[in-house]
Amino acid sequence: AQKRYAGLRDLPATATCGTTVRLLMNAGLMADLPSLEGSGAEGVGLFRTELQFLIRTRVPKRSELAALYRRVMDNARGKPVIFRTLDIGSDKVLPYMKRIDEPNPAMGWRAIRVGLEKRGVLQMQLQALIRAAEGRDLHVMFPFIADCDEYYEGRAMLLAQLEREAALGHVPPTSLRIGAMLETPSLAFAPDAFFRQCDFISIGGNDLKQFFFAADRENERVRKRYDTLSVPFLNLVEMIVNRCAALDVPLSFCGEDAGRPIEATVMAALGLKTLSMRPASIGPVKALLRRTDLRALHALIDAERARGTTNLRPAVTRFLAEG
Ligand code: PEP
Ligand code: MG
Repeated sequence: AQKRYAGLRDLPATATCGTTVRLLMNAGLMADLPSLEGSGAEGVGLFRTELQFLIRTRVPKRSELAALYRRVMDNARGKPVIFRTLDIGSDKVLPYMKRIDEPNPAMGWRAIRVGLEKRGVLQMQLQALIRAAEGRDLHVMFPFIADCDEYYEGRAMLLAQLEREAALGHVPPTSLRIGAMLETPSLAFAPDAFFRQCDFISIGGNDLKQFFFAADRENERVRKRYDTLSVPFLNLVEMIVNRCAALDVPLSFCGEDAGRPIEATVMAALGLKTLSMRPASIGPVKALLRRTDLRALHALIDAERARGTTNLRPAVTRFLAEG
């Protein structure tokens, strides 16, 4: 299948209406990096740093992490890499961390919630990222922000580490961009001031969908009832797109849906300009985008919504098949 799309590798994901979408890839292991070249991704939109913690038997040392992040950036050869800070807890349990029993781990003590309490681990990770980036651009993204203060605290911690590292004589990154993952409906309703504090925002569609529909993403039985192309979910996505556009905050979408061609194309029609997905999805997503008129698709979506259609999948599938 990869061969089929090889000819598209160096072509932009430009739709027939002229809009170009940036396609990035998701990664988490060193072994993923060669795909950056092979897939034609413009960068890594989501580097899941917890994978490095999950494959070990103890907390990695700062020097080990810094060396690893340096190699990731070296291998990206100047393409941007967005590092997401640890998202442990929920389905990702560290073998060496004391496990606390929680009735609903996905809604429990995970991600930024752990980082802001076990501050030493997050601080160490941030220091490693800063050291790895010396003289290069650094992008850091905090996961699972449900309340703006969590983002403000994470951001303040990062800026404090930056000062600390500079005081210790380390060469600082040439630029630092700090972002939040929008994975809970609450954040979509945060005040404008929050959006203004973000250098970028990435929609974590997997979690956002599970919390929007109150349907466990790990539970096939309930998960399958809810469609990404249902009008309520797309209305939420569009609201986020419009808020970010109004406040001039770069927005991306990095859940699994970004790698599904039909879903990805609908996201692009709603105004998403950056999508991050598994590398193997870049070709198929690009192929569909390149033969779609996103403006016409948006008009179809608007017309269907006005008619009271609750799920756009049938209409969108028909439209894309005709195109
Ligand atoms: C998401 O929730 O959509 C996401 C990208 O993060 P993860 O799948 O790692 O929770
Ligand atoms: Mg998530």
